[in-house]
Amino acid sequence: MNDASSKYKSAECPAALPPVKESDGQGADPVLQKPVDRRSLLKAGAAALVGVTRGHTRPLGRSPAQGAKRVIVAGGGISGLSCAYELMKRGHEVEVLEASERTGGHVRTMHEPLADGLYADLGAEQFTKPGYDLYWRYVEEFNLPYLYYPRRHGLLRRIGGQFRTEEELHDRRVLANLGFNRREIDYLATNAWWNLPMLYFQPYVDSFPGEYEPYKAGLNHLDDVELGDLLRKDGASEAAIRFIGDTKASALHALWHAAILKIRGVPLFPIDVYRLKGGNQVMTDTLAQKLGDRVHLESPVTRIERGESGVRVSYRHAGEARQMEADYLVCAMSAVLLRRIPVEPPWPEAKRYAIDHVPYYSASHAVFQTRTPFWEEDGHSINWETENPNLEQLWRMAEEVPTERSILIGWSEASASANDALEAFQRLYLGRVRGVERVFMHTWANDPWAMACETVTYSPGQLKKIWPAIADPVGRVHFAGAYADNLNWGQEAGTRSAHRVAEAIDRA
Ligand SMILES: Cc1cc2nc3c(=O)[nH]c(=O)nc-3n(C[C@H](O)[C@H](O)[C@H](O)COP(=O)(O)OP(=O)(O)OC[C@H]3O[C@@H](n4cnc5c(N)ncnc54)[C@H](O)[C@@H]3O)c2cc1C
Repeated sequence: MNDASSKYKSAECPAALPPVKESDGQGADPVLQKPVDRRSLLKAGAAALVGVTRGHTRPLGRSPAQGAKRVIVAGGGISGLSCAYELMKRGHEVEVLEASERTGGHVRTMHEPLADGLYADLGAEQFTKPGYDLYWRYVEEFNLPYLYYPRRHGLLRRIGGQFRTEEELHDRRVLANLGFNRREIDYLATNAWWNLPMLYFQPYVDSFPGEYEPYKAGLNHLDDVELGDLLRKDGASEAAIRFIGDTKASALHALWHAAILKIRGVPLFPIDVYRLKGGNQVMTDTLAQKLGDRVHLESPVTRIERGESGVRVSYRHAGEARQMEADYLVCAMSAVLLRRIPVEPPWPEAKRYAIDHVPYYSASHAVFQTRTPFWEEDGHSINWETENPNLEQLWRMAEEVPTERSILIGWSEASASANDALEAFQRLYLGRVRGVERVFMHTWANDPWAMACETVTYSPGQLKKIWPAIADPVGRVHFAGAYADNLNWGQEAGTRSAHRVAEAIDRA
């Protein structure tokens, strides 16, 4: 047998569920050691859950008799928190086990020791409209102040050792010198630089009937083709192939992503983006606050046992091994961390493959605190894209804070240090960098619970192996997370996947 039926009996026979073993020293609940009916089990199970954590029963939106389910959510990033919140709103008993000492995961805002109330987002930076749905609903529901984020306005792109303005990148002479062919030059003369992929993607993109249907476009053979080879076949210059990037990726995966954006009405590179005032962590802090003591910090899940009628997770808290049982488990940690957790019985082969192979990148964020916004005096845009891995992008944030000082955020490759980023800033700036008071580097790769940042486009042949297996539930275990949706736009993918899972558990 490949599932839990040999270990746990079916949901119709709840008395056969193994008794809850309380490993927090509070002792087993004797009710669970003798046969009980499902309603009693739910009540007792809920009591056992709260016994582990609180010692009193929290009032439910609806009583267990009305179908409340006990759900453990493993991971307190935006996906886990929003999934738990949606379940709580629907009246289910939910407990969030978060490995680290904070909630938010890759949504993280730094305040201390920045001066004058300044702050810096170290992870999730922005959201768009349209393109983000449930996220905006939360912004409205919680009445969270948000700000237009002009980080992509007047963008300077460093190409071939020279900063280029948006206007210059419409100039036919400049484009010819960069190596584009006639068709590309004609296109870029009147289209935005970032839209270049659509010159080649457009005929394919229109074939996708829906955003969750990569295999109905008649293009399945392109999963085995590298995007660079497809572009070459379709007449792209080597310059265009280089600038479009993702050349080694599955062409089908890249085209599907472009199609999803088109279907959602979002440009490939949205210029109009937003952030939360006070930092994007305001969202995850608000969700965590709504969940209250349902959230358990420093509680990493170390083992999953899945049965036909329930799940049991082992976790650690304050150095102590503990267990929790529930009707459902939602895995809401990144696939990189999920693949390290032993599961009994093992995931089905397709799921195991997807979890083990979904690819991620890691990156770092540099934070510069400057005494003044000196680039404004110099008349330079500070919104950059560069070719320097120590400072691939640069932009300003927290500009609404009433102070002369300012904060710049830099995007750096995972191995870059604060000094590397500062040196790159000094080398690339068109004048003299002045008054840098502090430089920090947040290296995600060093975070034991969040070292992998986001998924990347899959390699050839991988889409059919990973999608939809990565998002599909396995019995009583569901998967929410930025990796478990069709598009890796972090916070949106997180809240979408969370919503999908909460709906599925609620309906089950
Ligand atoms: C530098 C950077 C820039 C980004 N920019 C954007 C952007 O502009 N817009 C956008 O929408 N997104 C952006 N993202 C992506 C976005 O931040 C993430 O995709 C999103 O926050 C992921 O949320 P999640 O809840 O799925 O996963 P995570 O944030 O990884 O949360 C998972 C949680 O699970 C916990 N955990 C791990 N293992 C265990 C375990 N064994 N037991 C219990 N808990 C565990 C972790 O501690 C973590 O809190 C960016 C990310 C980074 C790093």
